[in-house]
Amino acid sequence: MADPYARVYFGDRFVDAAEANLGVATSAVLYGLSVYTVFPVHVDGDQRTAFRLADHFQRMIESCKIIGLDHFAREWDFDRFVEVARQLVAENAPTSDVFVRATVHVDASIPGTRVRGLHTTVSMFVYDAVPIVPQDGMRLKTSTWRRIPDDAIPSRAKVNGAYVNSVLAKQDAIDSGYDDCIFLDGSGHVCELSAANIFLVRNGTLITPDASCDILDGINRRTVLTLAEEDGIPIDQRTVDLTELYIADEVFVTGTSAGVAPVTEVDGRLVGDGVPGPIGDGLRKRHDAALRTDDLRGWVTRLV
Ligand code: PMP
Repeated sequence: MADPYARVYFGDRFVDAAEANLGVATSAVLYGLSVYTVFPVHVDGDQRTAFRLADHFQRMIESCKIIGLDHFAREWDFDRFVEVARQLVAENAPTSDVFVRATVHVDASIPGTRVRGLHTTVSMFVYDAVPIVPQDGMRLKTSTWRRIPDDAIPSRAKVNGAYVNSVLAKQDAIDSGYDDCIFLDGSGHVCELSAANIFLVRNGTLITPDASCDILDGINRRTVLTLAEEDGIPIDQRTVDLTELYIADEVFVTGTSAGVAPVTEVDGRLVGDGVPGPIGDGLRKRHDAALRTDDLRGWVTRLV
């Protein structure tokens, strides 16, 4: 991830990035007790627009509710969230596309392992929108680390501490010369990547693990499903075997930081002919257009 831009929202004010610090004894630092989201902001001349901001905000509300962080929903509504995003983007005046990371940190000091009622601080910062995976065909490796099951740390909640799981698996993949990992669940079914959802295409049908497969309910996953439905592409959301990826015609991934990006190799086997496929490519173009263009779906929020 690139460095944050100069001005950061932290604890109800805008400060210089160097001043936005959490204490060493806070639960956010000691236990990874924070929830977050990353949303994209597209820059077009003087205009700056956020994509699916209401859905990102809603997922933060839900993440907080799942882990018992009650403050956020009481103190924040969507209008307040938009206003902070608007001011943040205005203060930093990005000249090309950026990502915005918004986090609810539990910043109570040494409270032990509990959460309810503890003080929280919200931060928001901007950084360059550099994709975290290659965009022209990536190579994936199945991880020996299994995805954290929903009944251990809920995958629907975007909890910072859970990302140790992602770090372990992604580092292993990189150390082995791959671009990212594929997480399986305890039964060997496909879940997702370290920070992206996964899709495959077989005989014209778009297949992806359903939302109960220990995955994050990704906002770009939802976007691609909606676009595919509009295009009349048959969709199958279900459990997916690893070997289905080996014989897929196409594989691609979705995520704010990953984009809609093709996979050309899985565990040393070429996907299809080893080049990006037409269905994934079409959905990538449709997704890029949706991100940039205001439309009737209400997915785009004008910030500046
Ligand atoms: N899965 C995980 C584990 C992630 O961290 C992300 C990135 N937020 C995704 C999937 C994709 O989610 P989204 O489309 O909302 O960025």
